[in-house]
Parts: sequence; structure tokens; C-alpha cells
Amino acid sequence: MTRVLNHGRSRGRCEVNWIAETKGADPSSGRVEWDPIHSLWNGGMLIASLLLAPFFTTPSAVAVGMILTGGMVLLGHSVGFHRLLIHGSFETTPLLRHFLIWCGAVAGMSGPIWIVKTHDLRDWAQRQSSCHDYLAHRKPMLADAWWQLHCTLKLDRPPQYDLARLENSRFIRWLEKTWMLQQLPLAALLYWMGGWPFVVWGVFVRIALTVHGHWLVGHIAHRRGPQSWEVRGAGVQAHDVPWAGILTMGEAWHNNHHAYPGSARIGLKPGQSDWGYCFIQMLAKLGLAWKICLPEDMKGRAAELVSVGATVTSSHPQQSAQQPRPGPAESALK
Ligand SMILES: [Zn+2]
Ligand SMILES: [Zn+2]
Repeated sequence: MTRVLNHGRSRGRCEVNWIAETKGADPSSGRVEWDPIHSLWNGGMLIASLLLAPFFTTPSAVAVGMILTGGMVLLGHSVGFHRLLIHGSFETTPLLRHFLIWCGAVAGMSGPIWIVKTHDLRDWAQRQSSCHDYLAHRKPMLADAWWQLHCTLKLDRPPQYDLARLENSRFIRWLEKTWMLQQLPLAALLYWMGGWPFVVWGVFVRIALTVHGHWLVGHIAHRRGPQSWEVRGAGVQAHDVPWAGILTMGEAWHNNHHAYPGSARIGLKPGQSDWGYCFIQMLAKLGLAWKICLPEDMKGRAAELVSVGATVTSSHPQQSAQQPRPGPAESALK
């Protein structure tokens, strides 16, 4: 079955990424280089927060900051960028699609094309039998923070991307060029509502929390925590980060996401909070979301998965795959 995206030609349902088959592409050899734009942005947000928050804190500014952080992680990062733009796990109206992707830029990590490329390179690399330490989050915590928040990986033989259907969109190209400036209208509104405390908490602290929180959960999710499945042949396996289930709007059930990357629902089991999926369900009830991809739509995926004990903590597939449960991988899905 195929479907047509708003940004171009048709694409398989639940197809998971934007990387083209590239002969000879190698996820292992390359060098990590300083990335001035993201380093100055991420570092600047952190320093501005630490310097300014002590002087510009009021209860209402903190409340506005927290509500906006959660709102932008939900609408922008989780639903707009990750589930809609990157994975195409549901479809919606052009207006809502543009709004959710715009919220993704406002969440403050980067523009849409950078997000797609960065996400998919990691996704592709982790599915190979081995990959660079940068792509596996294999370095100790502080070194990994420096790499992920301030550096980029230049592979010697990178895969090619198939981005034409994204780059054909004037809106996407505009957002990619102006993602930092997208804070300005929001900052102006916040200043008008509550002066500098609202700007400090609603922009600087919010973005610092989002980018550092995203790195922290990503770091842990590739190193330790419960697992339900392992992906056959993948050199890097994912773990769930249960304490972050609510904070990340469901993104922290990362073991589920590696198992079913195209699924709009990431919290798959009872008790796994997934506000991102709740939001998509709400849109569906209003007639604003359709073609919602779920694990049962990803035919053939079960053959690539091995069920493992829920308390396995090793990040090494050869160690953590030792206790397979009987039955097909889907049996754990309820
Ligand atoms: Zn991952
Ligand atoms: Zn993903």
C-alpha cells in the first residue's frame, strides 16, 4: 500500500526513514567535529538560563515556562517532528501539519531538515551490526553530552538521503533557514504578557531544558533500562526510560520505538504513558488525523524482533538476548 505525503511523491505506509540505499555506506568510520551553530545555540541557552533565571524568577514565569516546555515537546518535538515529519506515522490536514512542524522548530532543537537527517542517520546506523561511538551514545555521560550537544559526526562514507519531497516544500526550506528566529514572535508575546521573567523562562530555560533533557533521555535509552524486544542483527539496542515516560510525552519508551519505528503509538503496554499518542487519538476523533500507523500495520516486523525479559539491563545484544520468551513478538502487545 502506498500513500502520498503533502511534500511530494508516494511512500510506503509506515516506512521509517529518509535514507536511500547507498552501496558502501559505512556507519563506523568518521570523525567528530565541533558544530559551531548548535554548540553556540545549546550552550548559549544553558548559560543564559543559569545567568538570568536567578534575577528573573516569579511563580507565574516558572508556570509559563513549564507549560510551554511540555506543550512544545508534545506538539512540536514528539508529534510534529518525530511522529509526523520523520516517521510519517499519521496524516493530517495541510494546515495542522504545518502548525505541528512549526511547533517542532519552536521546541528549539533545530530545523526540520537537520532533525530528519540527524534522526535517520542514527536510526540507520544503529540497525547495522556496528557503528561509530557517537551514533551509539557509547561514550561516558559528560563526553557524550559534549559530542551530542556541541559536535557533529562526519562519516567517511555516509549514506545518501532521499529528501527531495521535503526540500520541494517552500515552508520546510523557510523553516530550516529561520528556525532560530522562530523564537522571536513567541518572545515578543511573552514579553508583552509578563516582561523579562516570562521571556527567560518561556524561551531560554524552556529550550535549555528541552535540548539537555532530549540528550539525557537519548543517552540513557541506548545504554540501560528495561527491554521488551531486541532487533535482530542491530548493533545498538534500545531501552525504555520509565521515569521519563510522562516528561517526554511517551518518547521515552524507546525500546518499543526501535521495535516499531513507524508506529504513532510508542507507549505500547498498559501503564506506559503516551501523551503524544493520546493527542493523535484526539485529533482522529475530531476527524483531523487518519492513516495512523500502529504495530499491527507493520507486517513482517515481528520476524525481525526477539522478545526478551523485561528487566534486562545490558546494552549489549549478545548478552541481553539470552532470555527469549516463547511466542511471537506481538504477543506482548496489548
Ligand atoms: Zn534509538
Ligand atoms: Zn524515531
